[in-house]
Amino acid sequence: MKKPKAIIVGGGIGGLATAIALDKIGFDYIVLEQSPQISEVGASILIWNNGTHCLNELGVEDKFWEKAISIDEVSVQNHQGKILTKLNFSNSQEQFKISASTIHRADLINILLQPIPSEKIFLNSKIQSFLEDSKGVTVKLNSNKELRGDLLIGADGIHSIIRKGLMDNRTLRYAGYTCWRGLLTIDHESLPDTRTAVLGMGPKSMYGSSWLKNKQFYWFATALSQPNPSKELKLNSLKKAFSIWPQSIREIINQTPVSSIIRNDIYDLPPIKNWGKGFCTLLGDAAHATTPNLAQGGCMALEDAVELAHSLFKYSNKQQALRAFERKRYSRTANIVRDSKFFGEMSQWRHPLLLKIRNSSAAIWFSKRGMKKYAGYRVPPLKDSLAFTRL
Ligand SMILES: Cc1cc2nc3c(=O)[nH]c(=O)nc-3n(C[C@H](O)[C@H](O)[C@H](O)COP(=O)(O)OP(=O)(O)OC[C@H]3O[C@@H](n4cnc5c(N)ncnc54)[C@H](O)[C@@H]3O)c2cc1C
Repeated sequence: MKKPKAIIVGGGIGGLATAIALDKIGFDYIVLEQSPQISEVGASILIWNNGTHCLNELGVEDKFWEKAISIDEVSVQNHQGKILTKLNFSNSQEQFKISASTIHRADLINILLQPIPSEKIFLNSKIQSFLEDSKGVTVKLNSNKELRGDLLIGADGIHSIIRKGLMDNRTLRYAGYTCWRGLLTIDHESLPDTRTAVLGMGPKSMYGSSWLKNKQFYWFATALSQPNPSKELKLNSLKKAFSIWPQSIREIINQTPVSSIIRNDIYDLPPIKNWGKGFCTLLGDAAHATTPNLAQGGCMALEDAVELAHSLFKYSNKQQALRAFERKRYSRTANIVRDSKFFGEMSQWRHPLLLKIRNSSAAIWFSKRGMKKYAGYRVPPLKDSLAFTRL
């Protein structure tokens, strides 16, 4: 019997994970990527254990640990370096089932790329439009080439063209702040603990840092700002916002080669209830782009991939499978988008009273119990899919 064929638009975390997941349930697929190569920005990504659980289901968790390091503790501090609380992951596996790890984004992308045969990935293939009929979907590329599939999966990120084609143009929401990310190599032989991540909550700013493998040190910093679509780094704005932060943090920022710093204005997508139609669906940032404050955007894209494959295996009717997937994913992803937005807003507060309340209750916001809501989620097993009764 001919395998059903999915056209996956986007070769990011969501698109590649979906390709692996669909292959596991016996679907054919192609991945269309607009760029000349599959790549990621030079930065770290934090993967909570809801994400590593997905990597396990996709069969790539061992490869992940060759490149990732686990975090033992997150030290939550104020902008003067005073420790407000510590989120310790040791012994948390059993009771709260949460843990976190960091990996270079390029390594994660390569790990997801490895199981996918190169002939399944079409580079330089920007999708321009698509047309659905009673049997499937035809997509048109910028080269005017047309491709046909049984399903269309928009994993094409926050500015998704598939989302625009499926619904009235949804407006992205500016979070009110800009994020800078930097990566540098530091010889940390003499440092006692490289498995502690730092999260600093300031007035009108936030800072975070963690180690990666190979003595690489990653930091991010956010500051209240007007959106600015130019490619300029605007380092003066960063330095001005961080002039009240500890000298050690300012030095880290100053020591980072300018070529290793990236700047993004932060946007999210107000939650959309029905993000698919007919033989088309969305996943990852295309469906539920979130602010990065809970470090869950990439983890949710991994969850989507497994959940979508699970649903497509469970229901023989493809449209029913896609709608079941969207229904199941809506409330979890919408809650994370909302909570992450709130965490981001808290980090930008400036009123002294609000800062006092926030800082004195940090142990509640950053408790293992609190984080379990996000990181404790488990996708259904893909490996056992064949044991299901189809609906
Ligand atoms: C500052 C920052 C920090 C973050 N930190 C974390 C973190 O620590 N942990 C975490 O889990 N998440 C984090 N995230 C979120 C995470 O990066 C995203 O949620 C994740 O990368 C989304 O993956 P995706 O595959 O859905 O989309 P994307 O990574 O955006 O991939 C979309 C792909 O589609 C391609 N594409 C777009 N349009 C077309 C088209 N028309 N035709 C063909 N191809 C197309 C693009 O080139 C791209 O390759 C962070 C985000 C930001 C901004």
